[in-house]
Amino acid sequence: MRIGSAGPVLAVILAACGAQAASTPHGEADDAHGAAAAHGAPAHGAPGHGDAHAQPAAAHGAQPAAHHDGAHWSYNDQAAWGHNADVCGVGAEQSPVNLSSAAPVAEVPDLNPRYLPLDGAFVNNGHTLQFAPAANTSMLTIGTDAYNLVQFHFHSPAEHTLDRRAYPVELHFVHRNSAGQLAVVGVFIEEGAENSALAALIAAKPQAEGDANATHVALDPASLLPGDSTYFAYAGSLTTPPCSQGVRWNVLRTPIQASPEQVAALREALGASSRHVQALNQRTVLLGL
Ligand SMILES: [Zn+2]
Repeated sequence: MRIGSAGPVLAVILAACGAQAASTPHGEADDAHGAAAAHGAPAHGAPGHGDAHAQPAAAHGAQPAAHHDGAHWSYNDQAAWGHNADVCGVGAEQSPVNLSSAAPVAEVPDLNPRYLPLDGAFVNNGHTLQFAPAANTSMLTIGTDAYNLVQFHFHSPAEHTLDRRAYPVELHFVHRNSAGQLAVVGVFIEEGAENSALAALIAAKPQAEGDANATHVALDPASLLPGDSTYFAYAGSLTTPPCSQGVRWNVLRTPIQASPEQVAALREALGASSRHVQALNQRTVLLGL
């Protein structure tokens, strides 16, 4: 199955790219726990604050400037992403993609997030608002494969489209397994009832870019998941430079709700923060039974 077989590719990419992959300014690879092991640079700051993206220059060390994504990419100039990371431009398994409600229905492994109430740091890294838990206690299992939750963050509008329609916001829960492979759970947010976990985040949202503005938040991430865990499964990539492939994508079909005021607050804080939909090419998206 393509999804399962894509994992080792990412491990190779991470090893090959070293600091590059781990210092993605926003990237799905960012985390407070696994980055140091992945790229060999010590996570900075206090435990739980080690997002490598906040100091790309230090993390990259002697790497030529032209080879790193830096903090200088922009959602307004996505055509240029391939200049810094070739795979952004030429990769055949890039994310996000359009999801079709008519996707082939298939038996897929059970998606089982085991999220516990968490304390963590909420930061504005210049591209998104990102929460990194202080403790490594929340897990995701997909069938028998286990991953740790390393961070979650938002995009506006949603990056994955569903039948070509974009929800106002998409939440990405980023997980990593012991082999360094990434699995991301995507959750759409639509306007509806107020969400208490989002209220805590919005109240604490950092106003400006940078670690110095990190805010500590306590929340229950399980309340950011819909009741129905039916999901779209496909093999994709980080949706930010360096666009590394081998990411196991699991996008939940059912959105969660947030009040119109919460959606507006998130959209205002995030700004335009979505990569364009990428070609599916030879991939198949499966909709779980
Ligand atoms: Zn994302």
